[in-house]
Amino acid sequence: MIEKTEDEWKLTLSSEEYKVLRQCGTEPPFSGKYVSHKDDGVYVCTGCGNELFSSDTKFDSGSGWPSFWAQMGDSVETREDTRYGMVRLEVICGNCGGHLGHVFDDGPTPSGMRYCINSAALDFKASDEEIQE
Ligand code: FE
Repeated sequence: MIEKTEDEWKLTLSSEEYKVLRQCGTEPPFSGKYVSHKDDGVYVCTGCGNELFSSDTKFDSGSGWPSFWAQMGDSVETREDTRYGMVRLEVICGNCGGHLGHVFDDGPTPSGMRYCINSAALDFKASDEEIQE
């Protein structure tokens, strides 16, 4: 579990990443770099590098945010978010606590889950990079 002060996070994250990860911000739909990204690999947390989602579970939800129907292992945690007069399940990184997005139960089979994640919270590691490590 990574813990940093807000000043330390500001030094290591871009302002857009900071807004999403540390202030529970949401990037505008269809603005993020991974919305239509289809390469094979693993999406990791921008804040700490924790492996969060596999490209195998990415699907086109039409929402304007990168969407996945499963997380990798127990890499993320959820907690109730009641802001804006809605009850939603917030998705946070299990390693650094950074805000990633929300999860809904209207996703595709096999899980029925839809992890709706901000591109700013994600970095991408292509499969061929993983083999070299
Ligand atoms: Fe993280």
